[in-house]
Amino acid sequence: MTQTQPALDLDVPPRLFVCTPSRLAAWLDCPRRYRFVYVDRPTPPKGAPWAHNTVGAAVHLALACWWDLPVAGRTPAAAAKLLRDKWTPLGFRDDTQADEWRERAAGMVERYVARLDPAEQPVGVERTVALKTDRLAVSGRIDRLDRRGEELVVVDYKTGRHVLSTDDARGSLALALYALAAQRTMRLPCTKVELHHLPTGDVVQWEHTDATLERHLRRAHDIADEVVAAHAAAAVIELDDAFPPRPGRLCSWCDFAAHCPEGQAAAPQRTVSWAGLPDDISSTVDGEID
Ligand code: SF4
Repeated sequence: MTQTQPALDLDVPPRLFVCTPSRLAAWLDCPRRYRFVYVDRPTPPKGAPWAHNTVGAAVHLALACWWDLPVAGRTPAAAAKLLRDKWTPLGFRDDTQADEWRERAAGMVERYVARLDPAEQPVGVERTVALKTDRLAVSGRIDRLDRRGEELVVVDYKTGRHVLSTDDARGSLALALYALAAQRTMRLPCTKVELHHLPTGDVVQWEHTDATLERHLRRAHDIADEVVAAHAAAAVIELDDAFPPRPGRLCSWCDFAAHCPEGQAAAPQRTVSWAGLPDDISSTVDGEID
């Protein structure tokens, strides 16, 4: 005689969407570009490197290494030397432009660290923090995490030509998630986020409340839900339909435009690879330029 087995009542928690703030932002920018970065394997070849990314990477690296030096060695000249040591001349028009920008970037870090107290060791430099909710597990690396009194401050370096405003700090999903993740990881209050713009020396600050942080988290959940739905749809419909293109002003800056007919139609000419350099800081470019 066969006996009917009782149904197993397994309380299996739903799978969390594992992501970084960049992954969420990539989805918002363009689902097809998200697909190129996070779904297609192998990843399609990218276009030529961008000069402004070269500057950003060298500045971030030099500033991170500067904090690794002994306190007595944390001088402005040391920051400039680190910048020159880490420099890779990618994306520039020619050697002359690359050399000019190496020196401009060296000047940026030199002037920036001259305003810092070398003895005030940050709580974290390039510090990974993580946050788990019932729907997502988000992690990311903070450029710098300062402790000021009994609270933490998230510091994000910016090197692009976009002139920053308070709205940039207030509206940044990444900075809000970093603040929440820093609270959870370090078990200290963290509501202040700052953008430090190296080309101008400007610092833009925003202080979140529990309510504004909660709002950003809800937005992250909403984006994560959309992405999870797209991944599920990709199992039964064409990838092009699950991850549709979103042609627009970012297409001329897109690393994957060569693989995207809709993007090429929207922006027939790729922007030259040195166009994001902050040559004229008074002219702003919105969007991805870091
Ligand atoms: S070219 Fe434009 S539409 Fe195509 S993937 Fe890039 S951003 Fe999206």
